[in-house]
Amino acid sequence: MVGQATPSQRSGKAGRMAADPKELIRERLNIADVIGEMVVLKPAGRGQMKGLCPFHSEKTPSFHVHLDRGFYYCFGCQAKGDIFDFVMQTQGLGFGEALRLLGARAGVDVGKPTPKDDRRRDLFDVNGVALAYYRSQLAGEALAYLHGRGLTSESIDAFQLGYAPDGWDGLLKHALTKGVRDDALLAVGLLVENERGRRYDRFRKRVMFPIMDAMGRVVGFSGRVLDDDQPKYLNTPETELFRKGELLYGLDRARPAIRKSGEVIVVEGYMDVIALHQTGFVNAVAALGAALTEQQAEQLARLDAKRVHLAFDADEAGQRAVLAGLDQAVGRRLLVDAVRVPHGKDPADAVLEGDVDAFREALAAGLSEVEFRFRRVLEGFDRTTIDGQRAILEELAPVLTPRDVFDPVAAEMRRLVVDHLGMDGARLDAWLEANQRRQRPLSGTQVRGMRRGRAQSDQVRTVELEIVALLLSRPGQLRGRLDSVLAALPERVEGSALTDLVALCEEAGYDGERVLLGYRERDDGALVFERVLALSREEDGPRFDFDAALTKALSRLRELRLEARKETSRSRLLARREELGRLLEDPGTGSEQRPAVYAELQQIHAMLSAREAERRTRVPAKHGRGRRRR
Ligand SMILES: [Zn+2]
Repeated sequence: MVGQATPSQRSGKAGRMAADPKELIRERLNIADVIGEMVVLKPAGRGQMKGLCPFHSEKTPSFHVHLDRGFYYCFGCQAKGDIFDFVMQTQGLGFGEALRLLGARAGVDVGKPTPKDDRRRDLFDVNGVALAYYRSQLAGEALAYLHGRGLTSESIDAFQLGYAPDGWDGLLKHALTKGVRDDALLAVGLLVENERGRRYDRFRKRVMFPIMDAMGRVVGFSGRVLDDDQPKYLNTPETELFRKGELLYGLDRARPAIRKSGEVIVVEGYMDVIALHQTGFVNAVAALGAALTEQQAEQLARLDAKRVHLAFDADEAGQRAVLAGLDQAVGRRLLVDAVRVPHGKDPADAVLEGDVDAFREALAAGLSEVEFRFRRVLEGFDRTTIDGQRAILEELAPVLTPRDVFDPVAAEMRRLVVDHLGMDGARLDAWLEANQRRQRPLSGTQVRGMRRGRAQSDQVRTVELEIVALLLSRPGQLRGRLDSVLAALPERVEGSALTDLVALCEEAGYDGERVLLGYRERDDGALVFERVLALSREEDGPRFDFDAALTKALSRLRELRLEARKETSRSRLLARREELGRLLEDPGTGSEQRPAVYAELQQIHAMLSAREAERRTRVPAKHGRGRRRR
């Protein structure tokens, strides 16, 4: 205890340090372990880890923890401090309470609570007294009801279920004997006050479900009737401790499983959560309202949850309603799907009646929110027209634009667009990147350019046919000119118009006239004839420079081929990036493997950024030249 050091502790440096509980706690607890319970941390270089900041909303991790020095710092919001500050700031505790909380964890005696101890601690204690009372009252009819629903004694103990007996002042009287004042009971919502100022128990004749915060402390209760009385469930009203929109029932127990699997099952009812945990679905939680809020989603994202199964008891129409009613911010953050609970039951009945496998299958077959949203946008437009595709892309742009390297929602939407609209992935990415810097309406030409393969091969083909036409417009010089063209383009591309020309020339013994006639049989013949004819007219003009025209066409073709190669390597990088992302999401990927994955991701990121920077410097240069000419 402070100030009561033994003689041996009083002498020597080690003794003095050990006498300070704050220092002892710091020595014994690893800051990364404590913070890691709320924030998923990833290695970030020597002695550092980083994760998504719990103090501000962000998409890329800027929250750094320095392990040796024992403090954290956020580059986004400048939040900083040590292990005590973290607990105080995230839990809304005073220093004394943080000291006791961490002291208990580190096995360090920090002395008795001082009179300064704040009100919140008192309120948690009040709920604790109520919890003990309700638990002591669980027997007879109420216990039989829970067993009747299929809950085991282990589940009832694990979730600390209890019973509020019939009567107006059971809890009130009990609490008074424990030294708890009725003002405190009123403050946590356990009492109700009528107009005449009379105070009585809020919960009467109900099975009691205590509701914990992420730290496992009781913040409120929900009471369920045993018969058909209304309301079926009664909750603690919003209080200092009980904030419905921020709480997820069962999260304190589900947290390890969520972090491990990256998946979470969200249900409506407390019974559902307990029944699912009892049958092995230990990553189940309940939203305390009718829908998942943004704050709840944020908490789940911080635990590295990527996929959320919404198992609200729903038929097929209900599934769609659930997704349609989903907060857009939630759908943007996590991969959500709506599960159709087998046989139209609620999840608790489904799994307790033995349909565990059916429920597991239902989880796997959920209706994906991303796909649902994609289909809804498709319905609004004609995707067979350029105009329709343009509108669809503009509508989806906010979702398609990745929030960070591991944005699972953007990746999923991109896959749908690439597959169903026939867009070229690399070109789509290029547009999204440009659009992020400067938003401009998308043009039909841009959309055409994004369509897979089409645009580029069209351009290449046009330039190739131009070269063929140029060569054929001077039949007498065909052989010599063709040789120099082939020398300038050493790469021989299968099926290209130039390769075809070489084959035709060899067949016709390099007789220009015969080669030209050979084009009559070909699909591209009309184009070649038309161009040769046009050239013969241009050649009569005073300004025509044959060599310059041929050189220009050749350099354009080289440029196009280079671009195509770059795009192939870019798509390869993007594909690899996706693959690595999946590897990180896979819980089977060992921790020894991860540093290498992060290193490679960083490398890919650097390569993509360098390429993008190069592209950016190239574009304005062209504009500059254009302006100078004027
Ligand atoms: Zn921050």
